[in-house]
Amino acid sequence: MRSPASPHARQPPLLLFPPTHTHSSLFPASHSPLLPSPPPPRQVVAVQGRARSSRMTLPHFTAHTPMFMSVGTQGSVKGLTTQQLEELDCHVILGNTYHLQNRPGSELVAEMGGLHDFINWPRGMLTDSGGFQMVSLLHLAEITEQGVTFQSPVDGSTLLLTPEESIAIQNRLGADIIMALDDVVPTTANDPARFEEATHRTTRWIDRCLAAHSRPHEQNLFGIVQGGLDPRLREISMQVGSKRGRSGVGWGGVGWGGESGDDFWRVVSQCTAGLPAGKPRYVMGIGYPLDIVVCSALGADMFDSVYPTRTARFGVTLVPEGTLKLKNSIYARDFRPLDPGCSCMVCQRYSRAYLHNVVTRGAISSAAILVTYHNVAYTQSLTRGMRQAIEEQRFPEWVRNYLKTMFPKGDVPGWVRDAMAAADVSLEGVVAEDLPSPPPSTALAAAAAAATAAAAPSPAPPAEQ
Ligand SMILES: [Zn+2]
Repeated sequence: MRSPASPHARQPPLLLFPPTHTHSSLFPASHSPLLPSPPPPRQVVAVQGRARSSRMTLPHFTAHTPMFMSVGTQGSVKGLTTQQLEELDCHVILGNTYHLQNRPGSELVAEMGGLHDFINWPRGMLTDSGGFQMVSLLHLAEITEQGVTFQSPVDGSTLLLTPEESIAIQNRLGADIIMALDDVVPTTANDPARFEEATHRTTRWIDRCLAAHSRPHEQNLFGIVQGGLDPRLREISMQVGSKRGRSGVGWGGVGWGGESGDDFWRVVSQCTAGLPAGKPRYVMGIGYPLDIVVCSALGADMFDSVYPTRTARFGVTLVPEGTLKLKNSIYARDFRPLDPGCSCMVCQRYSRAYLHNVVTRGAISSAAILVTYHNVAYTQSLTRGMRQAIEEQRFPEWVRNYLKTMFPKGDVPGWVRDAMAAADVSLEGVVAEDLPSPPPSTALAAAAAAATAAAAPSPAPPAEQ
């Protein structure tokens, strides 16, 4: 499954699904080799309940799902080399279109042969549309039918990101998977008319993205389901979207930390149940390990978030029990590795006491690299463990062991219990029998925080790495 060492010796690019639209000549011909025959579709290796393990054939790599994608804002993941990301078994990493376009610019990246060659990464890459960063990071972003208008943080000038421009930038960057520009509204916005507008506008924009896509034989364009927390709008968005020639489907607007855990899993469940089984399902902005497990049980395939790498820079370590906050003095004489069950280089060589010492001495940047390395190893081990369990038809048992370790007292949050019931995963022997059901309004962030051994920083939108 490993790619050839030289990026110039790659296999011809393969797509997941044959495109349904024609190739345009907007991109130089040298960048647009056409395939002689339809590519192989995504291969589902095993299904258990609603969970699936699959192989996704991308132009640069065959990725295995369920899959967590680390976020590299400017290309690679902060603190880690691309060689380390390969060591850590990362199959696809995510680049932020907005940040890459700001610096160094997609034109320069295209001159260098595309993002893969620019950062020397031989495996899969995904770029987002850029819209989410603008709406979440910039105070002056305004969405109209034409696109997202915003004020440049560099010189204050007014700029417009249209669906066509987003796709043109992503065509120049050259990632294996590119995302359609959508009309972003957080699920916590209390404005039904705005959700209605965003749902239909997102459909109109996917048509513009498909028409603008100049490299359909080399890059997979994923659409986006909108609709906020309204099941009717989500259904409309899925129905109209499924008629479009998209390679896969993502959905966002959940996981911003504001909606309830109950709302969160219900949106994920509706989307995984309603979308075509043959296409990859991508839940955008999900990085809490517990959320990744819940979404995978419900049949989602792909996830991304800055959370594991960003929280590492605060000395917060992901472990099966939840998190370790290394600044805490209880680790000053703790000579165990971060996670005794982890085989990563950091856990093989360093103790919690050493890393506590480095963090509290103020040398956070040195510790950050080591904790980032472990946290990425943890997310990859988590998804690899789920894949193996699905393939060996022992996924429910895997989930029970995971939850038992995280909630040894049996106090599994109500929304997790409900989600697992919907996923047909029995939690018998895991949940304390006298546990009352929490109110459905329990915040997702609070539920996740309760699951951790120590409080971690709140998740941020996937942009601030
Ligand atoms: Zn480790």
